[in-house]
Amino acid sequence: MPPSAQPPADLTQTGVTAPENPARLEPLISQIDALLPQTQCGQCGYNGCRPYAGAIARGEANINQCPPGGDAGIYALAALLNQPYQALNPAHGVTKGKLVAVIDEDACIGCTLCIKACPVDAIVGASKQMHTVIVQECTGCELCLPPCPVDCISLQAVPGRQMAMSPAESDLARRRHQQRQKRLALENHATAHTYAKDQTRMETRPASDTAQPTPAASEALKQAAIATALARIKARQAG
Ligand code: SF4
Ligand code: SF4
Ligand code: SF4
Repeated sequence: MPPSAQPPADLTQTGVTAPENPARLEPLISQIDALLPQTQCGQCGYNGCRPYAGAIARGEANINQCPPGGDAGIYALAALLNQPYQALNPAHGVTKGKLVAVIDEDACIGCTLCIKACPVDAIVGASKQMHTVIVQECTGCELCLPPCPVDCISLQAVPGRQMAMSPAESDLARRRHQQRQKRLALENHATAHTYAKDQTRMETRPASDTAQPTPAASEALKQAAIATALARIKARQAG
């Protein structure tokens, strides 16, 4: 051993456990993820089902944080991980039956904010056009409700459904979420590439040609567009 090299620390004597190799946890994370409902709702406190599965595998989260999975999900996780059952932690919400989002298409102003919020790309529509939900792909996660500026999205319970997701619905939602993640990654990559090209181009132009709206100005423009659309709807309803 060269004089400058240090011997490996004896972690067993310091009380510090060696960090787990993340790759070694992947099979366990996949096993845990397979038991989660895949609504991608975030109620567990993580940004989707797989991040929650990762936190459980690393011992950072309890098995009772997923309301859509309910008691059945907790029992399944407990059996997989050889842990005792724990009742659902009410801080994370309550278990509901199957829900689907419905858009009041007459009230929709086509702002696209719900599309950006949907974790499984279950909403179709274009800017300034009405939007609609693909019922078979909606997980009922409720994430599209808060961003809608005109509150035209509601959730409807599916009669006879006690659980949020069937196994087939979970498999579809997992695939849809993974596809969305890949698409967003590609879009981010393309945006970064375009931005770098624009930066290069702007550096060769006079400063007066390259002024960009500030974030506050962009937000003001967006709010003005929404206000105009709302005024248009009110005028239509009054007439
Ligand atoms: S269904 Fe919601 S609460 Fe359950 S693991 Fe997935 S994201 Fe978390
Ligand atoms: S449409 Fe709304 S409720 Fe349905 S999956 Fe998308 S964000 Fe969730
Ligand atoms: S957020 Fe609301 S108003 Fe905007 S497109 Fe979606 S449903 Fe329409």
